[in-house]
Formats: sequence, structure tokens, C-alpha cells
Amino acid sequence: MADSGNPRVVIAGAGFGGLSAAKALSRSPVDVIIVDRNNYHTFLPLLYQVAAGELEPGDVAYPVRTILRKMPSARFTMAEVERVDLGGRVVETDGPDIPYDFLILATGTVDYFLRVPGGPEHAFSLKTLEEAIALRNHILGCVERADHEPDAQSRQSLISFAIVGGGPTGVETAGALAELMQGPMAKDCRNLDFDQVRIVLIEATAALLPTLPEPLGVYAEKRLRQMGVEVRLESLVDRITPDLVYLQDGTTIPACTTVWAAGVQGDPQAEASGLPTAHRGRVAVLPTLQAPDHPEVYVIGDLAHFEQDGSPLAMVAQVAMQGGVAAAQNIERQLAGHEPLPFRYRDRGTMATIGRNHAAAYAYGRTFTGFPAWLLWLSIHLFYLIGYRNRLLVMINWARHYFFREHAACRILPSEQVPPARVAQQDAGPGASPDEKKT
Ligand SMILES: Cc1cc2nc3c(=O)[nH]c(=O)nc-3n(C[C@H](O)[C@H](O)[C@H](O)COP(=O)(O)OP(=O)(O)OC[C@H]3O[C@@H](n4cnc5c(N)ncnc54)[C@H](O)[C@@H]3O)c2cc1C
Repeated sequence: MADSGNPRVVIAGAGFGGLSAAKALSRSPVDVIIVDRNNYHTFLPLLYQVAAGELEPGDVAYPVRTILRKMPSARFTMAEVERVDLGGRVVETDGPDIPYDFLILATGTVDYFLRVPGGPEHAFSLKTLEEAIALRNHILGCVERADHEPDAQSRQSLISFAIVGGGPTGVETAGALAELMQGPMAKDCRNLDFDQVRIVLIEATAALLPTLPEPLGVYAEKRLRQMGVEVRLESLVDRITPDLVYLQDGTTIPACTTVWAAGVQGDPQAEASGLPTAHRGRVAVLPTLQAPDHPEVYVIGDLAHFEQDGSPLAMVAQVAMQGGVAAAQNIERQLAGHEPLPFRYRDRGTMATIGRNHAAAYAYGRTFTGFPAWLLWLSIHLFYLIGYRNRLLVMINWARHYFFREHAACRILPSEQVPPARVAQQDAGPGASPDEKKT
């Protein structure tokens, strides 16, 4: 890759944080290389709508290379970041090793199953587009199997859904699932009694949306109960099997689908690289977002554990985006011979939608519920979604859902990923060794 001779900034992760940093550096005299395992940016806040068949996967994914067209000094490498050699200043990937002068680590988090047995094996998570597609296919597959299942108990399990975690993701997923079942599924699967559908939202604390002001949690609970969702507060999951969720109080919930929305931990490659971690593998950064003892390394977004006014910042898109800009500005300051400045997050609010016409929002110190909050939620998500085509498609799908209660993507499609083994087998010629053919 031809460099201009300018300092090289490598950004690991093309999520909200990484892309904001790249954009903020677009006029700086640096070469930027963005590395991501996917060649697209995923708009995570709408993943649950992909899982519920409301949106097509492509509606929430946008090619990174297209985003970079307007940034001539930025390039993209599709690769898995495996480790950072902090001493040698090299990002080690499953492809090329990438040397850097400055590094911005923005690889986010992975699921953390709180040591619940069966969680990693049997629960579905919602952190990537592949997972959202897998969950959608599984949910639709369960309904198809229930349609011809003669045994009443097995049929009930197939149309029962447990969601672990009553934060924004769990609340939004529960609401979307209820609308999927009572809307298009009930219209199209006439053999099944959709009054029997069971959706159980399990939350460990005493309220839903525990990070938002209490009235919003109360509102979300009331609204979900109106939609037929069972809300179980102060309930801890003990064990998960393919068709049962065991709670610590001895209750069992028969459900062939368990969605995990209860915990995350920092991308393990940060810890593997020797970066100091705080709570659950998230990197304990300095006030400037730099890694301790490595002034050339910045860690931002969900991967960073950053305390402000005595509490860690929430893992939300705004924190990642503002952190990306701050890290870029601090690199510019370092290049100009100045000290980097401490990061200060400006909270613009948090919100969760609960089915059509309803949302709970906390913005600028005020709480909003109902239709105004829902409109606010719609406009903010459309505004931040990348690409005019995606915005248009999302608007069309939302309008279809709103006016006709139809979902755009209720099809069990094959996975869009080409299995790596098949690619290697096709590539490997007749003379290839067995090992080459296997990988
Ligand atoms: C289902 C869901 C719903 C959410 N809803 C909201 C919401 O409504 N509002 C809100 O503000 N926030 C929401 N969030 C949180 C928000 O999406 C995150 O806070 C934000 O995405 C964090 O940005 P980031 O840049 O740190 O990481 P991410 O956006 O997660 O980006 C990380 C990037 O790194 C890449 N990556 C990871 N590991 C590697 C590796 N080893 N090698 C190469 N590439 C790698 C990934 O492919 C990804 O592109 C939601 C999150 C989820 C999962």
C-alpha cells in the first residue's frame, strides 16, 4: 500500500467510534487505515428489527469503502484483528501485519454470558448482522415447525420466546417480537392460535430500562404487558437449554428461543495484547482516551472503560462517536507538539422504542414517552443511519409496517456469508496440500 510519508493512523473497527475518528481525521496530514472483519458498517441500534423481520439485513449495513470515498487519505483493509504488538507498534491480523504511528482501537464488545451454563451454546445474541439473521431464521423456523407440530407441549415451546435482559435491547426486541407474532405471523399461519404465543422478558433488577429514570422503566413495563409480554423482574437466569430457561427461584420457562441481551465484555484481543482492563475486559483508559504507558494508542467506544463524574460512561453510539472525534483531535494535537486534552462526554440522551407509536426517551434532562418519544426515536435513527438508499428503504419498510402491519423480511433465507471452507476448497488447486484445502 503506497503511503504519502505522513504519519500513519490505524483504526481498528469500522463501527460508530472508528468511522467518526476517520471522518474527523479526513483533513489531517495523516494516512488512515481502517481495519474491520466486515467490509460494511453495521447500524447496531436497528439489528433487533432485522431479527424481527421488519428490515432487510442490507438496510442496516453500509460498505466501508463507499463511506471512505470522500476521505482520500483513508484506506480500508478487511481483516480480523488478532493482537496488537504494542512494543513493535504493529496490528497483527489474519491478513497482513499493519504497522502504525498512532492506533485507535474501536473494536467494541462481545457477549458476556455471566457464567450462565448453556448461555453461549443455546442463547441467541444480537451483536452482529450474522446473529440477527440467524435469530430471524430461527424464529421463523420455529413458527413453521409449530404450524404442523401435533404435540401441544412441543408446539407451545416453539412459539415461546425468552429474552434475557430488560435494558433497551431487550425491551425493543420483546416489543418487536410481539408485533411480529400478532401481526404478519397471525395473518399468515392460520393453523396456529397466536393467543398462545408466550414472550417472557427476564430482568435481574427491580425495573426495566435500569439505566434510565425510573418512570421510563415503569412506562416500558406497562406498555409491554399491554402487548402481551410477560415481564419478570428481579429474576436471575440459572441455566439455559435448547428448550428451557431455568430461573434461580426454581421456575422453568419452556422456550425454544432464548435471546441474550444481558451482558457484554470488551473485545478479548485488547486484553490479549496486554492492555490494562477494568470491568469485564474493557480497557481502562486515561482521561485523554489514551492507553496507559502508550501515548500513541487510543481506545474508544464500547471497548473503553471511561469514568466521568464517578460513573462509567454508557455503551451507546454517542459515546463512541464523540470519543472518536476526541481521539482524532488529540492525535492532531500530538502531531502539532501539544498535549492531548481530556475527553468530556456531552450526554444527548437515551431512548428505547416499544412497538409502534410508543417509546421511552430521556433527552436533555427530560423524560418523554408515547408518540412524541416514538417520533423522536424515528427521526434520530433515520438521521444517523448511513446512506440515502438505506434511509429510503428503512422509511419504506417502516411505512409498510406502520400502515399495513406487514413485515418486509419474513423469509428464511440462506446465510449471506459464503462459508470460508468452501472458498478455500474452490481456490485450492489440484496440487494444494490437504492442510491448504482444509483451511
Ligand atoms: C442490538 C443493539 C442495539 C443497540 N441500540 C442502541 C441504541 O438504540 N442507541 C445507542 O446509542 N446505542 C445502541 N447500541 C449500542 C451501540 O451500538 C454501541 O454503543 C456502539 O456501536 C459502539 O460503537 P463502537 O465503535 O465502540 O463499536 P461497534 O459499533 O460495535 O463497532 C466495532 C467494529 O469493530 C469490528 N470488530 C470487532 N472486533 C474485531 C476484530 N477482532 N477484528 C476486526 N474487526 C473487529 C466490528 O466488525 C465492528 O464493525 C446498541 C447495541 C446493540 C448490540
